[in-house]
Amino acid sequence: MAWASSGMKPAHPETQPPEDADHRRAIAPVICYPPDTLPAPDLTLYRRARQTARQVDEVVVKPRDGNCIDIKAGQFLRIESVKGPQVGDFNLWAADDLSERFYSGKTRALHGTHLSTGDRLWTSFPSLRPMATITTDTLDWYGFDDFGGSVHDVIGTRCDPYTGRLLNGGDYHYCCHSNLTRALASHTGMSLQEAEPHVHDVMNVFMCTGFTRDTGQYFMKASPVRPGDHIEFFAEIDLIGGLSACPGGDCSSEHSNDVTPCYPLLMQVFEPDRSALEGWVPPEKNAYSRSHGT
Ligand SMILES: [Zn+2]
Repeated sequence: MAWASSGMKPAHPETQPPEDADHRRAIAPVICYPPDTLPAPDLTLYRRARQTARQVDEVVVKPRDGNCIDIKAGQFLRIESVKGPQVGDFNLWAADDLSERFYSGKTRALHGTHLSTGDRLWTSFPSLRPMATITTDTLDWYGFDDFGGSVHDVIGTRCDPYTGRLLNGGDYHYCCHSNLTRALASHTGMSLQEAEPHVHDVMNVFMCTGFTRDTGQYFMKASPVRPGDHIEFFAEIDLIGGLSACPGGDCSSEHSNDVTPCYPLLMQVFEPDRSALEGWVPPEKNAYSRSHGT
C-alpha cells in the first residue's frame, strides 16, 4: 500500500466507485450525539458565584514545564496567557480517584472538536459525569477560520517523547507528556513510573488546530492567544488540574525542541461565597448498572 508510508489518503484509489457513489456521498450527515438532552449548566448561577469569588491559590507554569493545582468542587480555575503567546496541554483528574479523569474522546463526541463557554469536560467510564464547565473564554470570538482551525481542541493528544523518537529519533524530555508526568509525580508523591500512566489525552488550551480538508491531517497554526487572554473552568467535583506550557510555544512552527520561543502560563484558583452556589450540587457518577447485558 503505497500511501501508507506517505501519511496521505490514497491519491489513486484501487477500488472502482460504485454507480451510485455520488448519491452515497451526497447523503446529509446527522449529528451523532445531539446535546439537546444533556442537562445544561446553569451559567447564570456560576457567573453570579464567580462575582463573589476571591483568589485562594496561584501557580506560574514555567515554559517547557508543568504544574498541578488542586481545585475544590465549586471553585473556579483560570488559565491565563502571560508574557507571550503560549499554548497549554491540560489534564484533569478527580482528586479522590485518579482513574476518573478527563475523557477527551467522549467530550469531543458530545461538544465537538473545540471547546468554549458552556461546554463541559467529561470524566472517563464508568463515571462519565461533568468534571468541569467552561464559564469564560476570551478567545470565543475566533470561531472557525477559513482553514477549519479553531481554539481549545480536544482532538490532539499531547506532545510526547515516544512519538518524537518514532518520527525523528533522539530523546526530548520536555514534551507535555513528560512535563505532566513530572508535575503529577511531584504533586502526589508518586514515582515517575507510577504517575505516567495517569497522564492522558489533553484539552489543548489556547492551541489553534484542525484537520486539513483534503487529507484529514491534524494541523496546528499560530495561536491567536495574547497576554491577558484566559479561560475559566468551574469545578463540578474535587479536581487536580495539570498544565504543561508546551515546548511548541504558540505552535506556529514546530514543537519538541528547546529553541521555539515559549512563555509561562498562569493558573489561579478562586473560591466563591458558598451561599452564591445555593441550588448547585456536584454531579453524581453515571447511573448505568454496569451489568453489560448479563
Ligand atoms: Zn505540547
